[in-house]
Order: sequence, then structure tokens, then C-alpha cells
Amino acid sequence: YPAIRAEGLTKTYGSGESTVYALRGVSLSVLRGEMVVLLGPSGSGKSTLLNILGGLDSPSAGQVFFDQDELTGFDDRHLTQFRREYVGFVFQFYNLIPSLTARENVALVTEIAREPMTPEQALELVGLGKRMDHFPAQLSGGEQQRVAIARAIAKQPRVLLCDEPTGALDSKTGIVVLEAIARVNRELGTTTMVITHNAAIANMADRILTMGDGQIQRTELNAHPCAPA
Ligand code: ADP
Ligand code: ADP
Repeated sequence: YPAIRAEGLTKTYGSGESTVYALRGVSLSVLRGEMVVLLGPSGSGKSTLLNILGGLDSPSAGQVFFDQDELTGFDDRHLTQFRREYVGFVFQFYNLIPSLTARENVALVTEIAREPMTPEQALELVGLGKRMDHFPAQLSGGEQQRVAIARAIAKQPRVLLCDEPTGALDSKTGIVVLEAIARVNRELGTTTMVITHNAAIANMADRILTMGDGQIQRTELNAHPCAPA
């Protein structure tokens, strides 16, 4: 069975004449270890989909399965617990604690995780082995985002969900960050989904989904995803 399976996800906001359809019946399966990129114009439902798959938001209708667990059947308490244990999130903004070093920011997560890697292992994996004792203000934007990626993967989540991880970065720095995500996917085998506008990452993905108007409008398979250099 797939790592993530969604069936008929619908999400609406508001009611009556002002109802907004963020998702209109989305179904998908993501295989274990797969790297999937979500493309599509602003407002097409990408964040809504990712948030529902990661248990940050609930659908108006439809189901989400994580391995064999039905996420949409969990109450809030279980959903929060599930998210903490099994889902790694990376957002556009890094949300690092300024008074803590890179290592200490990652250690906040490893101290409470069930089967964490060490902060050092996580930071090495994203290429920050030489920056572990730096504070966020001493790091570039791309380096700060890689600390955020290290923090997200250090608990060894079942899935890594990234919502525009390069949105605040120039395109050259963005590629370095996307390569770090692709390396995590390849070396740890973490099932990964990335929302991005950066076409460069499409070549690193196993599959590219293009969303439009609350639906998946196009699916492309990459037979030979390019490993990052
Ligand atoms: P994308 O990530 O592709 O930009 P979103 O998932 O953020 O798209 O949004 C999909 C649609 O749902 C948009 O029309 C957006 O305005 C609407 N939407 C998203 N979140 C909310 C919300 N909390 N309240 C009302 N409308 C929302
Ligand atoms: P709760 O709000 O139920 O206490 P948490 O805040 O602990 O749950 O969130 C659980 C996971 O989801 C954490 O990994 C956290 O980083 C992530 N998360 C939830 N909401 C956000 C958000 N708005 N921005 C960044 N990370 C978030």
C-alpha cells in the first residue's frame, strides 16, 4: 500500500453564495520513498492539499490514509500526536529560534522524538556540518532554511512536506535548498512532497502533479530523476 492515499478530498471555505472551493475531489497516492512536486498557479489548492495530507487541516469531505491509518478518522489530540511523530514540515519562513544555535534548534526536536537521528547527523545531511554552532543571524537565508529542513527530518518522519521552501530565496540559493531536500529523499528514503514554483526541482522529482482550480490537472512521471550534483 502507498505511504499516503487520499480519496475524493474536497475543501470549502465559507457558505452559500460566498463558498470558495479550495479542493474539488482530489484523489492521489504517494508511494513510499517517492518524491512528488506540486506545481500550479496561486490559489489552485496546493497548500490546502498539503496541509490536509499532513494533518494540519481537515477536509470538508474525503479521506486521507497514512500507510493503513485513516488520518481523517483521528480526533484533534491524535492528529496533533500523529503530526508531531510522523510528519516533517518545511515552510517558506524558517521559524528558527534566534537565541539558539543551529544545533540547538534541531536538538529541540530530537529531545522529544521517539527515534531521532542526532542533530549533527541531520545538519550534516543538509550540508551544514560546518555551521552547527552558528546562530540564525550568522547564517544566510538558504542556510537557515537548511537548518529548518534538518529540524524537520531529525525526528525521522514518515513524510516530509515542504510548502514553497524556496519562496523567500533567490533562485540560485533556492536550488541549493531543493538539492538538500532531494538528498534527504534519496539517502533516507523519506517520502517527500514539495510545493514550488522553481522548475529546477521538477527534474529531481519522481512525479510532478500540476494543480488547477482545486484539482490535479496533470501528472507527469520522471523515469530518470536527476540526482542533484
Ligand atoms: P495555493 O497553495 O495553490 O496558492 P491555496 O490552497 O492556498 O492555494 O488556496 C486555494 C483556495 O482556497 C484559494 O482560493 C484561497 O483563497 C482559498 N483559501 C485558502 N485558505 C483559506 C481560508 N483560510 N479561508 C478562506 N479561503 C481560503
Ligand atoms: P499544535 O498546534 O496542535 O500544538 P504543533 O504546533 O506542535 O501542534 O504543530 C505540530 C507540527 O506541525 C510541528 O512540527 C509544527 O512545526 C508544525 N506546524 C503546525 N502549524 C504550523 C505553522 N502554522 N507553521 C509552521 N509549522 C507548523
